[in-house]
Amino acid sequence: MTDISTGTSPKGMGDNSFDPDKLLAKYRSERDKRVRKDGIKQYREIKGEFAHFLEDPYVEPGFTREPLFDEVEVVIIGGGFGGLMAGARLREAGVKQIRVIERGGDFGGTWYWNRYPGAACDIESYIYMPLLEELNYVPKEKYAHAPELLAHCQAIARKFELYDDACFQTDVTGMEWDEAASRWIISTSRGDRMKARFVAMSNGILPKPKLPGLEGIETFKGHKFHTSRWDYNYTGGDSNGNLNKLGDKRVAIIGTGATAVQAVPHLGAAAGHLYVFQRTPSSVDVRNNRPTDPDWVKDLKPGWQKNRMDNFNILINGGDQEEDLVGDGWTDIFRNIGGMLAIKENGVVLTVAEKARLTELADYKKMEQVRARAEEIVKDPNVAEALKPYYRQFCKRPCFHDEYLPTYNRPNVTLVDTMGHGVDRITEKGVMVNGKEYEVDCIIFATGFEVGAGYVSMAGYDIVGRDNKKLSQKWADGLATFHGFYTHGFPNAFFMGITQTGLTANFTHMLNEQANHVAHVVSHVKKANGKTVEPTQEAEDGWVSTMNRMAAQTEAYYAECTPGYYNNEGKPGGGNSFLAGQYGGGPVEFFNILKQWREEGKFEGLNIS
Ligand code: NDP
Repeated sequence: MTDISTGTSPKGMGDNSFDPDKLLAKYRSERDKRVRKDGIKQYREIKGEFAHFLEDPYVEPGFTREPLFDEVEVVIIGGGFGGLMAGARLREAGVKQIRVIERGGDFGGTWYWNRYPGAACDIESYIYMPLLEELNYVPKEKYAHAPELLAHCQAIARKFELYDDACFQTDVTGMEWDEAASRWIISTSRGDRMKARFVAMSNGILPKPKLPGLEGIETFKGHKFHTSRWDYNYTGGDSNGNLNKLGDKRVAIIGTGATAVQAVPHLGAAAGHLYVFQRTPSSVDVRNNRPTDPDWVKDLKPGWQKNRMDNFNILINGGDQEEDLVGDGWTDIFRNIGGMLAIKENGVVLTVAEKARLTELADYKKMEQVRARAEEIVKDPNVAEALKPYYRQFCKRPCFHDEYLPTYNRPNVTLVDTMGHGVDRITEKGVMVNGKEYEVDCIIFATGFEVGAGYVSMAGYDIVGRDNKKLSQKWADGLATFHGFYTHGFPNAFFMGITQTGLTANFTHMLNEQANHVAHVVSHVKKANGKTVEPTQEAEDGWVSTMNRMAAQTEAYYAECTPGYYNNEGKPGGGNSFLAGQYGGGPVEFFNILKQWREEGKFEGLNIS
């Protein structure tokens, strides 16, 4: 093991017996095995003969309504947490006419669609579930399950009267700017052409499920569906599990990402036989979920949620805090790093390179623990070995679960490790790997969501701004915004989500900051009797160049990573990649930039006419 400066064991690393150089070589070989020429093109869009995969299982068929041609002050596109937060903050800012347009049959977004067995929030519910103090609600468990999350979305909508004018089961199909009237005209799948003074778009980060472009996928004669539209008619049970119709079924699940990690224990408990097809193992650390302690609730002081959110956000982005309020697997890695830096520093100022090296060592240490956990829990040593992740912790979404690994000790569960290559193809009867056919009755695709296809493709509608310019043209080579919210030539339109913004693992924290900012700007424009607000070209160019400059550091990290949607399937650069949407200085810095900008009160970079 080499130290950063001396070539000896780094002090403060405890009794570690790993060799960082060997691990680095192993990480690289595991990555190289998986990098494919076709990158994101290995996936296929869900359409044509697979279009039914996207049907909404939670609504009665046959819904109709008259098209709308009226005008409202604000249209919000998307009824997930982002849209709900925007609605809440705009209401607080005094906006009366708000219409939410939502594809699903109710509010909820992610939690409307993702009701697979075991679905739960992997960030602590006390910081993930927004507006807890406003709703006077404390979640039942440290990590909330999907039904409670969906109910909370609905409660927010009720509290802020967002049901009143909501349009459900409605897809936005286009938006055009009417220069003369200074209004947006929004077209939808229901024939609407409604007008709005402002539009806030919160289309979701992962709105479109995807399938692997596997040969033969259309030939399979058994049952098949994607996790984001779970077919409980086929499996029985519900989001809590009890999949009582699977007792005599051979079930395949393809994919072992964050979704599969939560669903597999329920499938393993219920299926006649479960085959889990793995390309890359997830990192699965301790969950330790528990009911909320009523004594802890009694002691909560006003402002507790914001404090807790900030505390977590600062810690998981490498900052210092006296106390770790959440104290879970997410913050653990940074406690490790902090401890190591303190010991190493001991009055000496470390260089950026030294800090980076120590951070890397802390990462190895954490991942060694995660790998050791697989070995301790899984009885078959070959299976345990196959379940060990060899990459840095944040190369993929880290997972936390206490029943996932033990599921592989069940006699009715087989891990089919594809050694990084993925499934070969699908046949009429099942799944082929390495020349062997696994016959199954059902295939469940836990293969994730489209990323990297470009904003307009993911949103599902184009926007025609001033001078007939389309957003798809303007952003053909990548995003161009000011602070992530607005783009020149498209007045009164606000983007929420990951369009050049400060992304954090706790998405709802990011959405809360964005919603506050949008409400602040809208409220100012209204008070100033402004007709339109949009960024100057200079402000936008400045933000784009800041984004590009900072992306280089993040790209270097992700270039070392095993492929996945975080790094554009091994090609981290590019204007449409997941990384292109994230401010490289991190969310803490980004939120401070916004705060300072608001406090200055000059609305610098914006043209308010
Ligand atoms: P992911 O994109 O994370 O995972 C897709 C899985 O499919 C990967 O394991 C991938 O392997 C595998 N795969 C793709 N193609 C093939 C193939 N040809 N053969 C075999 N395997 C294949 O999707 P998820 O739905 O799991 O998660 C998406 C995101 O949703 C997460 O990253 C997280 O942000 C969020 N999420 C959050 C939760 C929460 O609690 N808040 C819970 C669940 C999800 P490989 O890794 O090799 O590409």
